[in-house]
Amino acid sequence: MVFEQLLLEKPLMRAIEERGYEEPTPIQAQAIPVIIDGRDIIGSAQTGTGKTAAYALPTLHRLHQEKTSHWPKVLVLAPTRELAIQVDENYREYGKFMNLRTALLYGGVGYGKQNQDLQNKPDVVVATPGRLLDYLKRRALRLDKLETLVLDEVDRMFDMGFIEDVTSIVNKTPKTRQTLLFSATIPDAVKRLSQWALQDPVEIAIDIKISTAETVEHALYPVAGIQKFDLLATLLEQIHFESVIIFFKTRAGTDRISRWLQAHGHSLCTLHSDINQRDRAKALKDFKEGKVKILTATDVASRGLDISSVTHVINYDVPQHPEDYVHRIGRTGRAYSEGFAYTFFSSDETSMVLAIERFIGQELPRKKIDNFDYREELVASAAPPASRKRNRGFGKRTSGKRRRGF
Ligand code: AMP
Repeated sequence: MVFEQLLLEKPLMRAIEERGYEEPTPIQAQAIPVIIDGRDIIGSAQTGTGKTAAYALPTLHRLHQEKTSHWPKVLVLAPTRELAIQVDENYREYGKFMNLRTALLYGGVGYGKQNQDLQNKPDVVVATPGRLLDYLKRRALRLDKLETLVLDEVDRMFDMGFIEDVTSIVNKTPKTRQTLLFSATIPDAVKRLSQWALQDPVEIAIDIKISTAETVEHALYPVAGIQKFDLLATLLEQIHFESVIIFFKTRAGTDRISRWLQAHGHSLCTLHSDINQRDRAKALKDFKEGKVKILTATDVASRGLDISSVTHVINYDVPQHPEDYVHRIGRTGRAYSEGFAYTFFSSDETSMVLAIERFIGQELPRKKIDNFDYREELVASAAPPASRKRNRGFGKRTSGKRRRGF
């Protein structure tokens, strides 16, 4: 499949060419014709699969063919400010050869710029639910002429408690709208929403395993909990990374380990929900531009963000839910290029590791690093079973005996 077969409007083809995309990704090949046709969609695909362009390109195609003056015609709802910023950037980038106006609405910042953008009568509004409702209540924006509603990362929106906000926003849009719903997972609440908000949707599922199985080299590092920081410091010295995201379970843990890493001479930036919006945006910008090579983060950063050039992901803590592993790992090996995903785990995290392996249908190799003084007795219960293949050249066993008990 090549982009020409999708018969997109010329200005979009120019933008695609300029971005250097050679062919549509699977979700684009499936979704674009259906969306151009005006159908509803329920798509289960995570970011990293080309999901944003899969809805941005066909909605822009329809906009380009339309001559009516009402606004906004397209609304994209996103769970986080970071994702909203990214989606808006994508729309502006793909629409750069069209006469496109967009507005980006999210909380935690002043109203000035957002008011101005709305005064320009934007064709496309990208928003997080809270700030959008704020504008709707003040009647600074109406959705009664909306043509296409995109609900992105719906499972995440529900996790964040936006279910009522989303419902009330959908209720303010016309029943005749086209609705495009995307969600990495489809739990019952999302299914219920889709039954209520979508009409005869086309289901598109992009295998969630793509980014875990095919493009990422995984490794598990069993280690005693108290040695995790030392292992991290050693690993960072041994690997060659262009950019690495280190994920933590808690905000406090993220802050503590970040301070220790800084004390070890690493420069880094940090992303979690206690950090104010301006600093989060700056952290993300510095990291994306390569000014800082290490980003430390909680799961806020693991979903939705398009940070395309990450070479390594390190899970300092094993993710609590198997899906979160896939999301975290989705930061690397994106758009089908190589990445590395390392996960530290102590014996009390063993059951979560097994759950992840079941979820992704893949047994992950256990590895040890060279020149590290493992506290043997503490890693024993987390070590690989005898049948498992040792890693190739990544480290030597510090004891001659194989250990059991994983
Ligand atoms: P997304 O899933 O929307 O977050 O996109 C992930 C990354 O893939 C982004 O950096 C996009 O610019 C890139 N991308 C999207 N579509 C294509 C394509 N057809 N070919 C190559 N890269 C793409």
